[in-house]
Amino acid sequence: MEHRPDIVAVMVGVAVEGPYSYRVPAGMAVVRGSIVAVPLGPRLTLGVVWGPPKDMVAHNRLRDIAMAYDVPPLSEELLKLVEWVARYTLAPPGQVLRAVLRSSEALDTPKPVIAYRRTGRDPEKLTPARLRVLDVLMDEMAWPKAALIGASGVSASVIEGLERAGAVERLEMAAPPIVLPPDPDAAIAKLSPEQQAALAQISALDPHKFGVALLDGVTGGGKTEVFFEAVAETLRAGRQALILLPEIALTHTFLDRFTRRFGTRPAEWHSEMTPVQRGRVWRGVLDGTVRAVVGARSALFLPFRELGMLVLDEEHDGAYKQSEGVNYHARDMAVVRAHLANARVILSSATPSVETRNNANGGRYAHVMLTARFAEAAMPNITTIDMRVDGPEKGQWIAPQLAREVFSAIERGEQALLFLNRRGYAPLTLCRSCGHQYQCPDCSAWMVEHRFRGVLMCHHCGHEVRTPKVCSACGEADALIAVGPGIERVAEEAAARFPDARRVILSSDMGSNAQLRDRFSEIERGEFDLIIGTQLVSKGHHFEKLSVVGVLDADLGLAHGDPRAGEKTFQILTQVAGRAGRASKTGKAFLQTYHPDHPVMRAMVTGDREAFYAHELQAREAGGLPPFGRLAALIVSANEHDVAMNYAKKLLSAAPMAEGVRLFGPADAPIAMVRGRHRVRLLAQSGKDFDLSGYVRFWLASAEKVTGNLRVQVDIDPMSFM
Ligand code: ADP
Ligand code: ZN
Repeated sequence: MEHRPDIVAVMVGVAVEGPYSYRVPAGMAVVRGSIVAVPLGPRLTLGVVWGPPKDMVAHNRLRDIAMAYDVPPLSEELLKLVEWVARYTLAPPGQVLRAVLRSSEALDTPKPVIAYRRTGRDPEKLTPARLRVLDVLMDEMAWPKAALIGASGVSASVIEGLERAGAVERLEMAAPPIVLPPDPDAAIAKLSPEQQAALAQISALDPHKFGVALLDGVTGGGKTEVFFEAVAETLRAGRQALILLPEIALTHTFLDRFTRRFGTRPAEWHSEMTPVQRGRVWRGVLDGTVRAVVGARSALFLPFRELGMLVLDEEHDGAYKQSEGVNYHARDMAVVRAHLANARVILSSATPSVETRNNANGGRYAHVMLTARFAEAAMPNITTIDMRVDGPEKGQWIAPQLAREVFSAIERGEQALLFLNRRGYAPLTLCRSCGHQYQCPDCSAWMVEHRFRGVLMCHHCGHEVRTPKVCSACGEADALIAVGPGIERVAEEAAARFPDARRVILSSDMGSNAQLRDRFSEIERGEFDLIIGTQLVSKGHHFEKLSVVGVLDADLGLAHGDPRAGEKTFQILTQVAGRAGRASKTGKAFLQTYHPDHPVMRAMVTGDREAFYAHELQAREAGGLPPFGRLAALIVSANEHDVAMNYAKKLLSAAPMAEGVRLFGPADAPIAMVRGRHRVRLLAQSGKDFDLSGYVRFWLASAEKVTGNLRVQVDIDPMSFM
């Protein structure tokens, strides 16, 4: 195919299949990776020059590229990542590209900053206000206008008057960088011998080649200190570093630790930033002024050109999987990106995912262990409380033994944590008189009472109603009863049992992120004795005085028919129990369970995590489940159940034959309706060396086209089976 350099393929940031051809107007120079604006239909759209056109289009039918932005081209590695993610997840490449191009603010040339400097000539008229300005400008440095106004306390007109009088001159300075470059030598940590050995193992991976290390260490083992040193090494070598966190909005202490280590705040990337801030970080990453980013999973698509190190803290965390739009898993795609960039990856966790552990066991990842807590801190002592014999009285949720331990911790001046991973007051509300159960009108889910806010709420679609005073079915007054506990109900019991304790409830509906951050700081300062919280408290926080942790329903995660139920339960229990005894005190954790003999509970009590992984890997292998096999879920949804089910049946019969592929379903999804749409699931399972994405793509291409309100969502490597 002959290629005319004045025609190029441009991938637009829109959910379409392939790139389109455009003409390069005279005088414009573009290369693969150049960011451009092109006409698409009636408007201009951001796109990226992808290379020579795929097919020959009549020259006169082509439209011109409207403009090329004055920024460096995207790296080859990033373009390949977009293609890789698209191929793997079955998302259109343009939709994946949108995750890269999301910030159009970043593409405009940054506005210069107006600054003033003394000329040396004094004005004829000197007022006190003018003198204050000239005083500030004494050092002959140029001052940005806003800073000058702030420092001298005058209005802009005074400065402008001085300019007209020839006493000061106006300059345009380049906008300052969003962050200063981190200094890898600002505060080098004194590592313990075990930490040093861990760092040496990571450093032994060739920095110019792809390599992955699993940093597998107990909670509080000092993993952060170790990967900071590895990041420092990368920065010294002149390459950029990316640290991903599962929940950055609430782990502000991490940013403080970074600042202490590297002498300056990192560039951040998460949903709480303004578009302007994001734009500046994005551009800084692209032009190389930003050397290190701490961000949420979407930071994976930032336009690094010199990426040398990716760190995923809490690599097992479910928040790394995106389940809307492009269904990608940031951990897996981070490994892909590192491969394309010849970079190193550190996957850090106290409870690594079974997939990652398997890669480490098989030698594909370096397995770096930290077995002891830093300094004199010891691991918590874990005990189960058998709810069948030692459980609480009816209508209560805290077992007597746990209540005693909480009480004595508080008496010793320490902190205690009661953990229940369920928001709201009660998961089910029913009428004592007629038996009516409150259900979401649009989802197959109970309405969860949130007493604090006075509403019943669906946790799937967010639908809310004020908690009724009379039963909406039979009209009986005061007949509604709450069934089962949520975190607010535990708080109510705690208030009755420990009235003198300073208590705090932590759950995502108890305030804004800023308010929650304040609560965390107050806990860290010891301003509360008893913390009552959901999953929110299990992540990355150090509560020095916390010595007793009670998990009220350790079985909660085991209830679903989810192949990852055991793993998820093990992870959350370990993380929550690991909050105890961070400082020198030995912590205690209590797990209230109906299944004290379950392998997960036994592994918790004996502290034998190896036994847990061995058992789990064996079970996965026997079932052909990941990481020994592959899964892909197809979720067919429609406004009517029959439409979804009939299409799913046709889809099943259209499935191509392939050796080793097993298909399950169609069956109603466990949550059979969400937002008024009926959901039917199909599941494909294959061996691990089979290209299941390719199979599903081929399958869907040969199936009947979806019409009307039908939708088929593909989820490769599903993490949730709802
Ligand atoms: P992890 O990430 O493994 O849970 P952290 O890195 O958060 O553990 O370390 C736990 C605690 O020990 C933190 O308070 C941290 O500041 C402290 N710590 C760990 N390593 C060191 C070190 N080398 N020097 C000083 N303090 C350390
Ligand atoms: Zn709902």
